[in-house]
Amino acid sequence: MSVEQIDLLIVGLGTAGAAAAALCAERGLRVVGLERRSLDASGARWVNGVPRWIFEHCGLASPGPSESHATGVPFHMLAQRGPERSVITGHDLMEVEMPALTRRLLAKAARHGAVLLEQVEDVQVQGGSVSARLGTSTMEWAAATVVDASGLQGLRLLRGEQDPGPLCAAAQQKRALVDPQAAGAFFDAHGVPPDQTLCFTGVAGGYSILNVQLHGGKVSLLAGSVPALGHPSGLKIIQAFAQEQAWIGEQLDGGARVIPLGAPLPCVGRAQQVTLGDAAGMVFSAHGSGIGQQLLAAHLLAETLAQGGDSWAFNRRWQRDRAGALCAIVAFRAFSQSLSSDELRALMASGVMGASLSRATLVQRDPVLTASQAIAAVKGLATLPSLARRMVPTLARMEALKAHHRRYPKHPEGLASWQQQRARLFGAIR
Ligand SMILES: Cc1cc2nc3c(=O)[nH]c(=O)nc-3n(C[C@H](O)[C@H](O)[C@H](O)COP(=O)(O)OP(=O)(O)OC[C@H]3O[C@@H](n4cnc5c(N)ncnc54)[C@H](O)[C@@H]3O)c2cc1C
Repeated sequence: MSVEQIDLLIVGLGTAGAAAAALCAERGLRVVGLERRSLDASGARWVNGVPRWIFEHCGLASPGPSESHATGVPFHMLAQRGPERSVITGHDLMEVEMPALTRRLLAKAARHGAVLLEQVEDVQVQGGSVSARLGTSTMEWAAATVVDASGLQGLRLLRGEQDPGPLCAAAQQKRALVDPQAAGAFFDAHGVPPDQTLCFTGVAGGYSILNVQLHGGKVSLLAGSVPALGHPSGLKIIQAFAQEQAWIGEQLDGGARVIPLGAPLPCVGRAQQVTLGDAAGMVFSAHGSGIGQQLLAAHLLAETLAQGGDSWAFNRRWQRDRAGALCAIVAFRAFSQSLSSDELRALMASGVMGASLSRATLVQRDPVLTASQAIAAVKGLATLPSLARRMVPTLARMEALKAHHRRYPKHPEGLASWQQQRARLFGAIR
């Protein structure tokens, strides 16, 4: 059997794998992608919020009207059922149909010469050697770099037995809108215009949400929580809400899955292997968003390999540029998970989570506060001494984690002690 020599072999063609295939093939790398499902059923099957700035940063066209039904819609975050709230405006979050985005990325990869194989079975990886079964035949490749983009339940190439941390059980559904007038009255009763996003937070523990949107004569529902803490899953939250609200009809599409909320892997590339997306824990933990982070990582991988770098070079750049912020957000998520419903209300009413901070968190950017915004946050915190006692150490831990990632070792030999120090900074946080 002949063994084909290639630059990059990608296992798993969800958004992470599809983005890596498109961005690497575009730069002239010889790419093969392997997908267990059929190509038109790979990856996420629901609507995800992705900030527009990330598409721009990665050199990808922003989703058009056939891929995205809303951009920058004001986002009303209520403490449970309200009335306390934070309203986020002036942001660039797009509501993206994931099957359409994945299809576009795969088409771009194929246009640039990537070979994409579907319904492959029994993928085996050893260093850069990969074999897979396709129907009755077995194929083999020798790849300079192998990418594991096979999701949380996939190959676990660099993850091995490392714990992904708490899991958010999320669900997203579009449902029929059977009574638009009653839906309008529901939004009205919560002080939210019907064309804007209504987000109930803390509906099942500190880390949980239920988003409700109306568009195109349909209802869009998104919910997530951490069932391991004794709460109902996102799917159960949606089902209970739809049953309670007579204006919501049958389910039209959508899906449910778990999202890893723990720290990303301390090493996402070494010895010819790279791990991307959920497989690597590349998730913005505050709201369980993986798509933006995996697009950024796929872009960085393509740039690094096209410049002649290897998997370790990619890993080091990603850890220094991106992972510190993701780890800081893991610490913030753990804090938010510990909030009681009264604390959540008090936090919203105090102005600590002002519009700037909420907007930056929504679109996955580091917040930049003006002096007056910082003073307002400090003043708000001063009115909540018991919360401040937990929040101030969290903020210090977040900064320490960012600084630690900026000191990521130059060589793999330094990894073990760096990793131990990172574990110490996380302490008991998972
Ligand atoms: C309901 C819900 C709502 C969400 N909302 C948001 C949101 O608003 N914003 C956001 O950014 N993120 C959101 N997320 C998270 C986001 O959807 C995930 O982070 C993302 O889909 C993970 O993509 P991935 O490509 O890493 O993995 P996956 O989507 O799991 O893709 C992995 C692919 O690999 C294939 N595969 C697995 N094993 C093998 C194998 N052995 N051989 C070959 N192929 C294999 C699978 O078939 C699959 O196609 C949400 C998640 C859920 C569940």
